[in-house]
Amino acid sequence: MAERSWSFGNIFKNVFSGTEEITEDTWDDLETALIGADFGPDTADEILDELRDLVNRHRVTDAKELRRMLRETIEERLARFDPTLRLQDRPSVVLVVGVNGVGKTTTIGKFAKYLRTFDRKVVVGAADTFRAAAVEQLATWTERAGVDIVRPQQQGQDPASVAYQTVERAQEGAYDVAIIDTAGRLQTKGGLMDELSKVRRVVEKRSPIAEVLLVLDATTGQNGLAQAEAFIEHAGVTGLVLTKLDGSAKGGFVLSVQQKTGLPVKLVGQGEGIGDLTGFTPHVFAQQLVG
Ligand code: GDP
Ligand code: GDP
Ligand code: MG
Repeated sequence: MAERSWSFGNIFKNVFSGTEEITEDTWDDLETALIGADFGPDTADEILDELRDLVNRHRVTDAKELRRMLRETIEERLARFDPTLRLQDRPSVVLVVGVNGVGKTTTIGKFAKYLRTFDRKVVVGAADTFRAAAVEQLATWTERAGVDIVRPQQQGQDPASVAYQTVERAQEGAYDVAIIDTAGRLQTKGGLMDELSKVRRVVEKRSPIAEVLLVLDATTGQNGLAQAEAFIEHAGVTGLVLTKLDGSAKGGFVLSVQQKTGLPVKLVGQGEGIGDLTGFTPHVFAQQLVG
C-alpha cells in the first residue's frame, strides 16, 4: 500500500532541502513556511524566537538539528492539550456540530466505523432534519459502518425530538455510544444556536452529554474558524475535529486553532473514505508535518 502523503508534509521540505548549515535564508524560509502553513503570525513569531534562542545558546549550526528542534517545539505545543475522547458513560452521547459542508456527516460515518472496530455498539441520530437528503446521506454512512440509525419520523421533525429518541434508543438498547448529527446552516445563526441549545437541553433530560465535537474544515483556515465562533461561544464544545487535512497545506492550523480556542483537537479527517479518520497524536502529527 502506498504511504499516505499529506500535502502539508511538504511545507518544510524547501526550508531544509539542500541546506546543511543554518543561514539567514534558512530563517527567512522557515518564517515563510510557518506563515504559509497557517500557524498564524503570533505563533510563528513565538516558534522562531524560541528556535533562535536555542540555536544561539547551544551554538547549533546544522540545519538537521534545527529541523529536529522545530519538530520538538511543535510537538510540545500540540501536547499542551489533551486529545482523549471522553467515552466512559454508557451510553456516551456525542453531539457533532459545525457549519455546513465541513464534513460532519462524513466524520460521523468514519467515527462510527472506528468505534465498531473496537466492538462498541453505536447508534447514530439524524437530527439534521432540515433536508431529506441529509438523512439519506447519513443512512448511507451508517450502513457502511454497520451501525444503527434513528431517523426522523417526518421531514422537518424537531431535531431535539430526534436527538431525544436517539438517546432513548441508546439507553434501552444498551448501546455504548450515541452520535447525533446536526444541521449546519448558518443563515439564521441565532436560530441555529437556539436549536442546538434545545437539543442539548432535551438530551440532558435523559443523559449527560459526553462530547460536543466541533468539526472544522482545515482548508478554510482562520476564516473557517471565524465562521465557527458562534458554536464555540454557545454550543459547549468539548473538542475539535479537523477535516480535509489531506487536501490542505495548512497543517499549522492545528496548532493555532488549539491556541485560539483553548480546545483540544480530538480527531483528524484525512480523506473521504471510511478509514480516513484518526485520533490525534502530537508526536505523529509533528513528525508528519516537519518530516
Ligand atoms: P456536513 O455538511 O458538515 O455534514 O459535511 P459532509 O459530511 O456532507 O461533507 C462535505 C464534503 O466534504 C463531502 O464531499 C465530503 O466527502 C467531504 N469531506 C469530509 N471530510 C473530508 C476529509 O477529511 N477529506 C476530504 N478530502 N474531504 C472530506
Ligand atoms: P421546550 O420546547 O423548550 O418546551 O422543550 P421541551 O422540553 O418541551 O422539549 C423540546 C422537544 O423535545 C419537544 O418538542 C419534543 O419533540 C422533544 N422531547 C422532549 N421530551 C421528550 C420526550 O419525552 N419524548 C420525546 N420523544 N421527545 C421529547
Ligand atoms: Mg451533514
